[in-house]
Amino acid sequence: MSTSTPHKVTLIPGDGIGPEVTQAVVRILEATGVKFEWERFAAGAEAFEIYGEYIPADLYDSIERNKVALKGPVTTPVGGGFKSINVTLRKKFDLFANFRPIKNLPGLETKWPGVDLIIVRENTEGEYVGLEHEVVPGVVESIKVITDKGSTRIAKFAFDYARKHGRKKIHSIHKANIMKLSDGLFLRCARRVAEGYPEILYGEHIIDNTCMQLVMNPFQYDTLLLENLYGDIVSDLCAGLVGGLGLVPGANLGHECAIFEAVHGSAPDIAGQDIANPTALLQSAVLMLHHLNEEAAANKVQKALEAVYAERKTLTRDVGGKAGTSQFADAVLTAMG
Ligand code: ATP
Repeated sequence: MSTSTPHKVTLIPGDGIGPEVTQAVVRILEATGVKFEWERFAAGAEAFEIYGEYIPADLYDSIERNKVALKGPVTTPVGGGFKSINVTLRKKFDLFANFRPIKNLPGLETKWPGVDLIIVRENTEGEYVGLEHEVVPGVVESIKVITDKGSTRIAKFAFDYARKHGRKKIHSIHKANIMKLSDGLFLRCARRVAEGYPEILYGEHIIDNTCMQLVMNPFQYDTLLLENLYGDIVSDLCAGLVGGLGLVPGANLGHECAIFEAVHGSAPDIAGQDIANPTALLQSAVLMLHHLNEEAAANKVQKALEAVYAERKTLTRDVGGKAGTSQFADAVLTAMG
């Protein structure tokens, strides 16, 4: 329910297409009637130029205070350079659950209409702990960390979500035939948690087979529980099932704080041209509205977004239309009335 006290939200527009999609989303959020007080921060290379730090101390403080952030993508240098801002923030605030609902939007033709999947990705461990070193020239070690605590709490998150939202099945996705100890532990923890939820069917599939199965028949799955790296990859695959990265939202959730951000990256290939699709960040903002108990506003935005897709007149290029980012946002605003 909307209150007269504004929600203080940390806003990280990011870089690449980040500022464009963030601007579109903020315009839509401000038209919902819900009051926001945005605390805006640069992060990554842009922040380094201004503050000499990739994540300014004030940004950490702001998230710590507000407990909720809306974040655009921030470019991560490939094969060197500074550490991923996403990974750093997820670790710092112990945002252990990466939640990504994958659903078709009306009016978009895809190979499989009616996809409705939930991805629950462990967000703080696995190969993303950043423990890499060169042993001798030409030999590098990269450490994957899987813990009982981390695996148990993400499994519990998935089962609690499934129970609360009436989801029927959870599959743990793994490679325990090769990673016997690490993925083996992840599976043992999931099985132990599953015992407490007898009404939810529990299954296990190997990651490579899962990728093929998802492409051939996504309806055999409901909720997917994955380690960090597998979740990252399978999220993009699933985005492809429903029309691409421009659409799929995400939430990074911990016990204290939450950061809402799209699955996609900074898309430098289309940045600065007003052609990026803001839907993924907008649907992430809808998740944020639910998180803030602003149910009416969340439903209003989602309904307007779906009306724009159903009408098919003002869609962005990635989904076969001709509209620009701001034009698309205008259409959503009009549909909100
Ligand atoms: P990262 O590793 O940082 O997540 P990525 O490798 O997944 O990034 P993206 O930056 O997400 O790469 O871009 C992948 C492709 O998807 C690019 O061709 C990009 O243009 C397209 N894309 C991503 N986001 C959008 C969007 N919002 N609208 C339109 N196209 C997008």
